[in-house]
Amino acid sequence: MTKPLKAGGEVDSWCTKCRMVLNHRIIAMVGSKPVRVECSTCGSHHNFRARAPGDKVVAAGGATRTSSSASPRAPRGPTRAEEAARDREVKWEKAIAGKMVSDFKPYRVSATFQEGDLVRHVKFGDGVVTRIVDSRKIEILFKDEPRTLAQGLTD
Ligand SMILES: [Zn+2]
Repeated sequence: MTKPLKAGGEVDSWCTKCRMVLNHRIIAMVGSKPVRVECSTCGSHHNFRARAPGDKVVAAGGATRTSSSASPRAPRGPTRAEEAARDREVKWEKAIAGKMVSDFKPYRVSATFQEGDLVRHVKFGDGVVTRIVDSRKIEILFKDEPRTLAQGLTD
């Protein structure tokens, strides 16, 4: 989960319109930080914000734990991230294999989903609902990666 962020890439951000932390596409970066993002759910453009307003931000300046996965890329064997990605793809393929087009529910923010539902997303393609985060949020596993998207929005 330590993919370097870049414009055009994806990041979880607070959406000022959906009012929750959801998958976003990065529009602009400053240094290594996203500043401008586009919500994958509602398509709105807004400033990047990693957390919901009001959430406590981890105090800066202290001896904060930084990820210690600084080991240089070993030339032998797949990395854990690569293995995890392969496991996800296998899981995705199992869920999708042999399914009919009619088994897929078109993804809409106003729809509600259940774990195991097959979903067709206009941007991300076919996916399977792997987790109901809450009544307004679901996690969908797509072929390339899982994404947190909204559900049950009445907009
Ligand atoms: Zn949004």
